[in-house]
Amino acid sequence: THFGFRTVRTEEKQGLVRDVFDSVAARYDLMNDLMSGGVHRIWKNALIDWVNPQPGQALLDVAGGTGDIAFRFLDRARHIGAVRRAERRDMGEDVDEPPPNTAEAAVTVCDINVEMLKVGRDRATDQGRLSGLTWACGNAESLPFPDRTFDHYTIAFGLRNVTNIDLALAEARRVLKPGGRFFCLEFSKVVVPGLDAAYDLYSFKVLPRMGQIVARNREAYQYLAESIRKFPPQDRLVEMMEEAGLRQSKYRNLSGGIACIHSGWRI
Ligand code: SAM
Repeated sequence: THFGFRTVRTEEKQGLVRDVFDSVAARYDLMNDLMSGGVHRIWKNALIDWVNPQPGQALLDVAGGTGDIAFRFLDRARHIGAVRRAERRDMGEDVDEPPPNTAEAAVTVCDINVEMLKVGRDRATDQGRLSGLTWACGNAESLPFPDRTFDHYTIAFGLRNVTNIDLALAEARRVLKPGGRFFCLEFSKVVVPGLDAAYDLYSFKVLPRMGQIVARNREAYQYLAESIRKFPPQDRLVEMMEEAGLRQSKYRNLSGGIACIHSGWRI
């Protein structure tokens, strides 16, 4: 039963989002590569570059779906740990080799959709990732974690799907440690003249066709194009982050604004 208009709307959007990702979960990774021509990998690497993972850090990756950000974070932190150990060994220090698969950093992947989490967990197993990962089912608007828990918060191609962005931003700030940093990678407003028209054509004509053929779900990819158009543009999202209590909020456009990374600190 619904008690008010607002509740109904919220549940409708969340139900729709759940259906979309339920139906595409199995083919989600393939679709990402097809739709973006593999460019989503470059964008995700750009996010990780900016996050700058370090051994020992705790990341919360919200809307983490199939684990793309989590795996990159752990690999980078592990690589940096290995480089540091090698340097210390070169200096003549006695450095213990950590057991294989020890992440030395910890990522909690939180997603509202169990099917997406299952795909992520299976991928982790297939890749021999045995440590450093926790999978949690939860909503970005009411995170099931205590205050001041994480060094970083990331949300990649997820904030657009959240019903109440202000709530999600407030929750992000709440679970970050003081000195922790928020990052959002999301489709944004194209800032290059000419590119915007081509991009509209692509997202409203080509993309739904591809969704129909590859994922057998035209609606899901139509929803994608519409949700991108509705998402707050770069400067507005900066304002919303500041209103949620994040500080020094800024952004970097990727591929002419097709995607964008926002960053802000909990001070
Ligand atoms: N971060 C992954 C990536 O970059 O490949 C997955 C992005 S996928 C486009 C969006 C994800 O957001 C889906 O897995 C979906 O289940 C999740 N999601 C949607 N609404 C959510 C919410 N309110 N809270 C948490 N996750 C949500």
